[in-house]
Amino acid sequence: MAFKPNKPSIHGETLDTLGLRLAEAGHPKYRAAQVFEWLYPRRAESADAMTNLPANFREWLKENYDFTATDVMGKKTASDVTQKVLQRLRDGSLIETVIIRAPMEGVGQEKSRRTICISTQVGCAYGCKFCASGLEGWKRDLSVGEIVSQLVQVCRIEDQSDPARAAEGLASFDNIVVMGMGEPLANYDNLLAALRIVNAPWGFGFGARRITISTSGVVPKILKLAEETMGFRLAISLHGATNEVREKIMPVNRKYPLEELVPAAKAFARKHGRMLTLEFILIEDINDSLEQAKKLAVIARELHAHVNLIPYNKVEGLPWVRPSITRQDRFVKELRALGVTATLRREKGHDIDAACGQLRLQKEKALGVEPPPPEAA
Ligand code: SAH
Ligand code: SF4
Repeated sequence: MAFKPNKPSIHGETLDTLGLRLAEAGHPKYRAAQVFEWLYPRRAESADAMTNLPANFREWLKENYDFTATDVMGKKTASDVTQKVLQRLRDGSLIETVIIRAPMEGVGQEKSRRTICISTQVGCAYGCKFCASGLEGWKRDLSVGEIVSQLVQVCRIEDQSDPARAAEGLASFDNIVVMGMGEPLANYDNLLAALRIVNAPWGFGFGARRITISTSGVVPKILKLAEETMGFRLAISLHGATNEVREKIMPVNRKYPLEELVPAAKAFARKHGRMLTLEFILIEDINDSLEQAKKLAVIARELHAHVNLIPYNKVEGLPWVRPSITRQDRFVKELRALGVTATLRREKGHDIDAACGQLRLQKEKALGVEPPPPEAA
């Protein structure tokens, strides 16, 4: 069920929608652009910070909009390159945003490439058998404002390590991956509206090519995404190279089997002329055989896709096991021998890609359900 906050989030508005609302309330429409200048390049946390705007207008903004649809509750450094940020929504739900800082060749840690991994839902209905996010089912979709606010909060954290970029008004991150909690394409409209705000020149001006959407394979929505003018990158969570294996761990495969998923992925790649990524978690005795590697190679070659192998990350309460390093190596070697470009992420911090949803679960268990915070501007 959708959650209805008392006030709409300011981060859910566009230049057009805010302009209209302002005009209705008797304020000049051009103030919308001023508000966005404060919100995104200048990172204003509340209307009070918008010091060049008239006091009565700032009051109106405070009365009518929520400036903190997501609130940072805590941070956890998972490794030397990754940090998880726990955020609380107005109804008390918790979501995770992950910051992955990959050092850039030769320039040291202070000049790292920053990738932000965002959530799109509270929980997930898709119930993949290996995933912490799906363990307790789907609770609700994030709104447009919550998705954007989530990014703004993390941007503020990153501003501290890159004040020069922040001073220029640019986003303090280099890439966005939509790989956190939830199935992004199941919250298609809100996600796309949020990404349009992130992309807009009056928003973060953040290029679609630097945004990757990951899906477990919602075929009709992949086809829809292919028709969008914004050229996002697409990652498909494959995790099984045959229907038989995929079905064991991903219930979505029953609805959209490989014979539908592969052509849809192909249509997307053709439309956008971009290389796809196939995500493949290696789970012992489930999908790590040489036979699976060979079949995966056939799919990857057909799609001209890059394969990203992720050794399974242990989720408490689930029976799956990460294969030995020898078995992981054997798998990646087989793929490469068959002409596929593949990476095996075993560097420190690989756990973070996998562990989306885990921090939230631990926290919810430890805290019980938290009361919703009061709605302040
Ligand atoms: N719902 C989308 C995006 C979120 S999941 C999707 O499924 O693509 C993000 C990625 O983390 C997916 O590739 C997912 O399969 C992977 N993942 C989930 N649980 C994992 C685990 N325990 N170990 C390794 N990867 C995991
Ligand atoms: Fe949902 Fe993705 Fe986890 Fe599957 S892997 S349960 S689709 S978040």
